[in-house]
Amino acid sequence: MPQPLDLPPSDWPVLEPGWVWLCGAGPGDPGLLTLHALNALRQADVIVYDALLDKRILDWARPDVETIFAGKRGGKPSAIQRDISLHLVELAEAGKKVLRLKGGDPFVFGRGGEEAQTLIQHGVPFRIVPGITAGVGGLAYAGIPATHRDVNQSVAFVTGHDQTGEAPTAVNWEALAQGAQVIVVYMGMKHLDTIAARLIAGGRDPKDPVCIVASATNPDERILETELDRASADVAAADLSPPAVICIGRAVLMRQALDWQALARGEAPRNVDPLGRGQPAENR
Ligand code: SAH
Repeated sequence: MPQPLDLPPSDWPVLEPGWVWLCGAGPGDPGLLTLHALNALRQADVIVYDALLDKRILDWARPDVETIFAGKRGGKPSAIQRDISLHLVELAEAGKKVLRLKGGDPFVFGRGGEEAQTLIQHGVPFRIVPGITAGVGGLAYAGIPATHRDVNQSVAFVTGHDQTGEAPTAVNWEALAQGAQVIVVYMGMKHLDTIAARLIAGGRDPKDPVCIVASATNPDERILETELDRASADVAAADLSPPAVICIGRAVLMRQALDWQALARGEAPRNVDPLGRGQPAENR
């Protein structure tokens, strides 16, 4: 049992009866949980958790905790989202200390905002605990910085399907192709072929580097490097399955130098200067 909460107890917020804390749990690796989330785990009477959560995280909860699985897996219309939110209300109104634990960050494609709105409608007090989102932390485990001065001054986080389960019509992929130097797609595996085709139609280089990080930060993490015009075929050939984040853009090349998990295994970097810039920006 880890004991990282060595600050005086008065410095840690108390999860009061009748409150809901909406917490991010990070992308998987339990070590990526925040201290506020761990503090919440230790206090909660009841934990309502999602499908993508590493169950080892629940070992840090109180032994008498009640756990409720509120899993929804990608693509399905979420008719039950309202039920989950109302369940949180019921638990809080019953005087429980409620921890709503969500994968990644609760406010990044996590419906945390919707749940918080329902809590407000019912007068239930709540706290938001941010988490490490898969599109940043998952890429970092693959050795891909979400931003790098020699690559990008912007990064776009995009969902690969909308509430109908289709590639989102609200996203202007053709405009993104030109406007976003690095594109990070969540929930994009099912429609990767459509997404790639629309980006290429919008002028994106068909040979733009792509990296797919599946089950990022977890023991079954799998990483595939490919290019935009063959990404979908390569994913199928490699039999990669969700959850996965898809990074599109030259940031992917940095992995050739920064794949720290390979370096830790004793492998040499494939290319210390993948962008061909001679030396890092800070030395120029
Ligand atoms: N709130 C979450 C995102 C939830 S949407 C966050 O901030 O990370 C679910 C999508 O997140 C998945 O389809 C996938 O694209 C991504 N995702 C979540 N966990 C992941 C993981 N461990 N590895 C790769 N992608 C992950």
